[in-house]
Parts: sequence; structure tokens; C-alpha cells
Amino acid sequence: MGVSDSFDWQQIPNLKIEKTFMRLAIINGEVVTPDKLFPSGIVLIEDGQIQFVGSATEAEPLSNSHIIDATGQLVLPGFIDTHVHGSGGDDVMTDGAAGIRRAGRNMLRYGTTAWLPTTIAARHEEILFAIAETRRAESGSEPMAQLLGLHLEGPYLNLKFKGAQPDEGIRDPNFDELEELLQLAEGRIKIMTLAPELPGSLDMIRRLTANGIVASLGHSECDYDTALAAIDAGATYATHLFNAMSGAHHRKPGLAACCLNEPGICAEIILDGVHVHPQMARLAARNKGREGLALITDATTAQGCGDGIYQLGKFQVQVQGALCTLMDGVTIAGSVLTMNHAVKNALAFTEMSLVDVAYMAAMMPAKRCGVADRKGSLEVGKDADIAILKADYSVATTIVGGVVAYEKQG
Ligand SMILES: [Zn+2]
Repeated sequence: MGVSDSFDWQQIPNLKIEKTFMRLAIINGEVVTPDKLFPSGIVLIEDGQIQFVGSATEAEPLSNSHIIDATGQLVLPGFIDTHVHGSGGDDVMTDGAAGIRRAGRNMLRYGTTAWLPTTIAARHEEILFAIAETRRAESGSEPMAQLLGLHLEGPYLNLKFKGAQPDEGIRDPNFDELEELLQLAEGRIKIMTLAPELPGSLDMIRRLTANGIVASLGHSECDYDTALAAIDAGATYATHLFNAMSGAHHRKPGLAACCLNEPGICAEIILDGVHVHPQMARLAARNKGREGLALITDATTAQGCGDGIYQLGKFQVQVQGALCTLMDGVTIAGSVLTMNHAVKNALAFTEMSLVDVAYMAAMMPAKRCGVADRKGSLEVGKDADIAILKADYSVATTIVGGVVAYEKQG
């Protein structure tokens, strides 16, 4: 679907034109750092970077600061979503650079400050198109969740575990294609999902790893030993833990069991309460801890559009509440989850603290994307990418690089 280039931003409820300030001070909120929570904290920002984080008793706003009073609110690192197919009516595969920018802007409403546009299994030319358009989208000037690169989900996936990926796009690893993808992307591919049991997959994992790309295991029916061989070849990540992968059967352990068991592999997880049962989320959290899990949305174009019927590539999908399925009403087809809800659900489903949940929503994905030195946490010297949430976990304010990019009205 997608909307035209002349789309009027003011039509998006509560989305305002950005405000740029040299100095910002966020006061009176509960401030979350990687180590602790300051119940009455303060964050000072200058020139887009964090200058101070701590207790309100330790610092005061500098002169000429724009003050954001976060009384009763949570001040968290901006969320980094490493698995997004679309948002707000726009699709990464089909809606071009303008659509990718609109999607990046829409997700400001959910506290997301950086993301990886994520491709699906498709014809080679279609994936090249998405890469080229993502590159073009980098030059946009309007505020949006920053582009950190791309996540290629497929096309080298197992047809039997295709999930909602289209059959015709799925194939075995092809090194000629990969070289073209790498050349066009020029370092922008951060993650590639592939099924390790396919012919050539282990070599491809080595090739990806040598290029600094995270090889992520997924859409796979591999057994435990094959998953171990993939880790040995360099894979460090798994795509949407439990979904579209061999499971944790006690006599036939598959990829999910390997993810739960092996410290060498981290995993994305979709915590919308539909893709993964809350008790399995709890199990995963206990086994993996905050260094082993990244919260993602796996959102489709229907994210933020409400209930209804939408076009997802060649498929029609129906959205009802948190459930997004093909028209059979059974096959889950991506999600309409938002990152602020993923955070809320992680707190409800697991025993993790807010400090650790914020880490899974920002720091873990920052590490996967190779940007943890400048993003992913509220620490001095880092980019001022910040999500300020109300007590109900709705987003009050989103700040990207020190710019107030979104403020909820009222
Ligand atoms: Zn996906």
C-alpha cells in the first residue's frame, strides 16, 4: 500500500515538527542507566550529546536550557528496533526512500530512535531495490528514527519454516547474489537472517562474519548440532526466538533449544503476547538474561494503523488488536507491536527489572548494530537519543540526537 510523497505529516496525530535546542535538561523523571535507576534523575544535553546523567541532587540545568519536566515519567534510552518491515502504512520493500523515511518518522511515536529496515524473501532485484532506497532515505532532513543500516531477512530460508514469507522469494544460498548485495550496500547490511541447514549456509555465515555482518539463524528446521556448527562458523544471533524455527523438543532439540542453552548466541524476541507465550518469554529471559535477548517488533506496514485489512507484499493481512494474520485468521504475519509496548510486556511477562528491559530494547540492539559506543544507553558522551514514557508506557516525548522529534499533545 503506502501513501504518496505529498503525505501531510500533520495528519499523524500528535506528530509535531521538531524543536531544536542547543541545551536540553530533562528533570524530575525516573532516569534509567545500564546500572541503575535514579528515582528523581536529571539528564543534561548539549549539542546533541549527553553531558550528565544522575540524581537531581548532583546537578542543575545549565543556563539557557530548554527544560522538559518528566515528573511521573520514565526517562529511557531511545529504543533501537533491528527488525522492521514497515510502519504507519509504508513498506520497506515497496514504498521507496520516501516511504522508508515516513516509516522512520512514524515510529517516533513509539519511542524508537533508530532502526534497521528489514527486507523479506523476494526476487534479487527487489532486495537490491530496498537496499538502494534505504541508502537514498539516509539523505532526508526531516526528523525520524535514524537508519543504522539494514537487516536482510532471507532470502536464504527454509521453505518449511517460511512463516509469512512468500514461497517464490525463498531459495538456497547464492554467493553471486550476496556479492552484489554487499557491493550495493557498502557496509550497511548489519544483520542477515539465514537457515543454517541449507547447502552453502555455513560458508555464507563465514563470508558474512568476515564482512562484519551479524549472521542470524532463523526460518530454520535445523537440529541442535547444525545450530552448533553455525555458531562455530560465526553466527551469533537468532531471528525471532521460537517463531519459524525448530523447537525445544526434549528428544529432538532444535534451534530454539540451542538458543536457550548456548551462551554464544543471542536472540531477538517478539513480545506482543501473540508470537511467544508469556511463560516462554519468561523462560527465555531466565536463560538468556539481558545480554542474550533483544526486543524487536517485526512490525509490518500495518503498525500504528489500527484494526483493519492491509496489503503486506502479495498477501492481504488482517489486524485485530495485537494479532496480525493472513486472511486465514491463523497464520501470524509479522506484528503490529510497538517498542514501547514490547517494553511494557517484557516487564509483565518476565521477572526482569526496568533497567534490564531497557537494556534489551536499546543497548543489546546497539551492540548488534556496532553502535554501542555512541547509542543504546543514557551515558555521558553518547548521542541524546531518549524515550520519555508516561506511567502507562505510552510515549510522551522522543528525542533523537538532542532534537525533540515527537511530543504527545495533552
Ligand atoms: Zn520479519
